[in-house]
Amino acid sequence: MNALLDARTAIVMASLLGGLMGLVLALLQRSTPSPVPGLKLWAQATGVVFVTALLFGARDVLPDVVSITLANGLLLWSYLLYLWGTHSYFGVPMRWRGWWVLWGTTMAVLAWFAHVVPSFGGRSFAMLAAMAFIMGYHAWFLFRHMRAGGAHATFGGRFTACWLAAIAGVFALRWAHLVLLPQDGSHLFAPNWVQSAYAVSYSLVLLMITVGFALMASERVRETFEHQATHDTLTGVLNRRALLDALAQELARSQRYQHPFAVLMLDLDHFKAVNDRHGHQVGDLVLQQFARRVAATLRPNDVLGRFGGEEFVVILPETDSASALATAERVLQAVRPPPPGLPAVTTSIGLTYWQAHDRSVDALIERSDRALYVAKSRGRDRIEVVTD
Ligand code: GH3
Ligand code: MG
Ligand code: MG
Repeated sequence: MNALLDARTAIVMASLLGGLMGLVLALLQRSTPSPVPGLKLWAQATGVVFVTALLFGARDVLPDVVSITLANGLLLWSYLLYLWGTHSYFGVPMRWRGWWVLWGTTMAVLAWFAHVVPSFGGRSFAMLAAMAFIMGYHAWFLFRHMRAGGAHATFGGRFTACWLAAIAGVFALRWAHLVLLPQDGSHLFAPNWVQSAYAVSYSLVLLMITVGFALMASERVRETFEHQATHDTLTGVLNRRALLDALAQELARSQRYQHPFAVLMLDLDHFKAVNDRHGHQVGDLVLQQFARRVAATLRPNDVLGRFGGEEFVVILPETDSASALATAERVLQAVRPPPPGLPAVTTSIGLTYWQAHDRSVDALIERSDRALYVAKSRGRDRIEVVTD
């Protein structure tokens, strides 16, 4: 039975589209303000797939060692490049040894069935199994990072994972078909519907996977922008705007559910002297260390932000006065020891609690600021509380 679209045309057309997608990924890579980890590898992989398709398309024109052995070797390599890209995207190193064994074994079997005992069935058997495994693993790896609550669980990631699973399924089906119904005498461009359906679905799904990678890359760029818009560049804690937003949210929640919360205003003591004595750069390092230490003493739901200069604010949700005071005390202790190679600093802390009559964020800021002023005037390196 003749297929609507013969396999060679399908592969050549899809490879052209794939080549264009590779170009899109490469351009995306050039136009992102900060490099997206993995994007370069995805673009390279797509480029390799494109070259591979050209080599496959030149079957009978080029020697078999190029159009079969080299082409398949490159194809497998491109799938590993895709996987490597996704590993980089999540900052997980590749465990290469196992992948090299898989690649080498598949290549040995492939060369055997290409040059010693030529058999399309034998070659497909090895290649499809290896490709199904790599793509199946890739899908699983990505799904694992997409679990609800994951830091980078996004639409693009789920989209890509689904299509990776789909392509692994296509390979597995084709493999099963090959095992159940041996097809001696068939070849890559055999004019039968199985081979055409395989070529078309494979090509389209691969295209969707590259679309998925482009989505993931743009999502990462957006995440980076959002992070930059809400975080302080020097210390990495929330910036003033994001901090005030968080405080407004906490206030709204407490007005609704009557849950207590506390606000701490921190200001480093005699910080001007640190700058004068050691220079602004050392001052910056001191601020970074300070923020890190304060953050380390807090619970996961507590919020730390830089209010300005060397002033920080901590929001303690669901916290009564006694625990808030204990936390403030821990902060005071935690920042006292001088960090390695840096001058010692202390901090003064103004503490206040949410009151049912608080109408705005300003009321809380004003009270904690007043408390801080009292702590400064009473000798610094201490906590003062203002409740009304
Ligand atoms: P006090 O105990 O009364 O708070 O004394 P202080 O010297 O800390 O007084 P003040 O709050 O007025 O001084 C803050 C200093 O912090 C002045 C400013 O140069 C410095 N500062 C603000 N932001 C930064 C920064 O990002 N890096 C550095 N190195 N210094 C900063
Ligand atoms: Mg100060
Ligand atoms: Mg200050």
